[in-house]
Amino acid sequence: METKDTASQLIPEEFLALANDPGSLTSKTAARFGVSPHSFINWRWQMKHQVMDAAQASAVLQLEDTEKRGFSELQKLFNAGITPYYMGLMLPNIDAGDAECPIRLQALPRVEELKDSLGVADPLSEVPHSPVREVVHVYPDRVAFCVAQLCPVYCRYCFRKRRDDEVGLHFNRTIIDNGINYIASNPAIRDVLITGGDAFMASDQALEQLVQRIRAIPHVEIIRFGTRTPVTLPYRVTAKLARMLAQYHPIYVNTHFNCIEEITPEATQAVANLVNAGIPVGNQAVLLRGVNDSPERMMALCRGLLRIRARPYYVFHPHAVEGTEHLRVSVRRGIEVMKSLRGNITGLGIPTYALDTPSGKVPINHNYVLGHDGEDLILETIRGEIWREVGVFQ
Ligand SMILES: *Cc1c(COP(=O)(O)O)cnc(C)c1O
Ligand code: SF4
Repeated sequence: METKDTASQLIPEEFLALANDPGSLTSKTAARFGVSPHSFINWRWQMKHQVMDAAQASAVLQLEDTEKRGFSELQKLFNAGITPYYMGLMLPNIDAGDAECPIRLQALPRVEELKDSLGVADPLSEVPHSPVREVVHVYPDRVAFCVAQLCPVYCRYCFRKRRDDEVGLHFNRTIIDNGINYIASNPAIRDVLITGGDAFMASDQALEQLVQRIRAIPHVEIIRFGTRTPVTLPYRVTAKLARMLAQYHPIYVNTHFNCIEEITPEATQAVANLVNAGIPVGNQAVLLRGVNDSPERMMALCRGLLRIRARPYYVFHPHAVEGTEHLRVSVRRGIEVMKSLRGNITGLGIPTYALDTPSGKVPINHNYVLGHDGEDLILETIRGEIWREVGVFQ
């Protein structure tokens, strides 16, 4: 269970320079919220001041009609909640009154969510694939362990929205005990992916207890965290948290940047804190209409990720989650966008485009293998020419 951090631990030193710089996003957004930048970089303050309704949002930015009604009409359907920090990313577009801002599209509820012809609640059938509560076991060697329920920002396209209706899933003692017993009694599990919700939505102490218990299981080789905090609440990702986690290496973190506008100095610091502690950081984006569904925007994202040392890992095709039709893109478009990266950025910057299914993730990248002619392999090159590689197809 959660233990309270002491006040001194809540002022993360690595973010002080940003708080002290009057021109930083941190300081400017703190001013909009009428709070000191030093309080603003306290992640508990951010969570206490999550923007959850139209009145709070309107106090800092001009809402479009579809957004205003979104807050009120969707209240009972899907969680809404946005950290003041993430609200700050909408501000550059504020004066233009730009409802198409990629940050707004991801975070502000809109009435469009009410109409969706295809959407379902649990597109991956995770519930039937959970042998014990919140442990999703699809691949023999690894599990996704959903210990968290809270998130700093409730992404409008989240495929685990179904959990919004439940209560008491967040760092729940019984769920964690049963999950750990399940992992401990299955020697095939080498890789535990701690996720949620957002895996970093707990105190350092609660996270340390959890990691210690998983690390104590001899057959678990790697521990991974799935967290969007570097993007939605970077002040949570302190050097202290990273140093604590590093005691239990090998630890990996996968985060979730979707567009270049999210790669701020604050997010850069959060990722640096992890990487400097020897924790490799990967990125899992979701392909979203108006956010990253063009070659230019996807390229900008992947280049930006390499600059901050977050390795582009996956781009997921958006699931048909209910209420997300206005954000979905066709696979045809997705393949075109992803193909445009090849040859124009290092392979390190090219994530796998994948569609997640109830039996695992399926890569849906463009296929360059055209076939074979006897023992010759026939390829399409990245420039669209035909290439015959002689004698390699025995
Ligand atoms: C995505 C996922 C994993 C991890 O997949 P990797 O390709 O190893 O990152 C594991 N289990 C489940 C159920 C998943 O959905
Ligand atoms: S951070 Fe992840 S789990 Fe939380 S709402 Fe966004 S996509 Fe869903």
